[in-house]
Amino acid sequence: MFTLKLDEIPEEGLDLKWKEERASLLAYLKDLSRIDFDFETPLQSEVKIKKAGGLVFITGKVQTILRFQCVRCLKEFPYPLSTTFELTLHPLKEAPSGEETELGSEEMESNFFEGGEIHLSEIACEQIFLEIPYQPLCQEGCQGLCSICGKDLNLSACECVKEELTSGFSALKKLKLD
Ligand SMILES: [Zn+2]
Ligand SMILES: [Zn+2]
Repeated sequence: MFTLKLDEIPEEGLDLKWKEERASLLAYLKDLSRIDFDFETPLQSEVKIKKAGGLVFITGKVQTILRFQCVRCLKEFPYPLSTTFELTLHPLKEAPSGEETELGSEEMESNFFEGGEIHLSEIACEQIFLEIPYQPLCQEGCQGLCSICGKDLNLSACECVKEELTSGFSALKKLKLD
């Protein structure tokens, strides 16, 4: 994983570009959380880093192609993802011993660096997480599988007689994806 020491950032700032392979990303992410996607291509990151007044400012771009399973038809599909971001990192103060630090809502949204190091891989992965769809679909309006015979309704209709499902839930799913 890619970590940068604060001392390595010159006064005028630093431009960095790096690439992380699928295997190293998956090894890293599986320690963090359950993930239900895969990487089809390496994760490419490009950032500008500056430090000023004890803070670190990062602007950048991450780009990759993920692989998801469609929530309706269960088919796997590639999902190109590219996003830009801007972050301000604050030094993480040592918590007073034996006490839980209560973070205000404003602080919760901030990012931190600790021990004079910036975990660039972690930052890049976080940007990916922010862009992951809540309910991945292979295509807008995917017909899904028949709940009775299991046939992929995108390929052809089946003969099963079903009750029409027009629940609020499917409307909600649509809304979340937009
Ligand atoms: Zn689908
Ligand atoms: Zn059917």
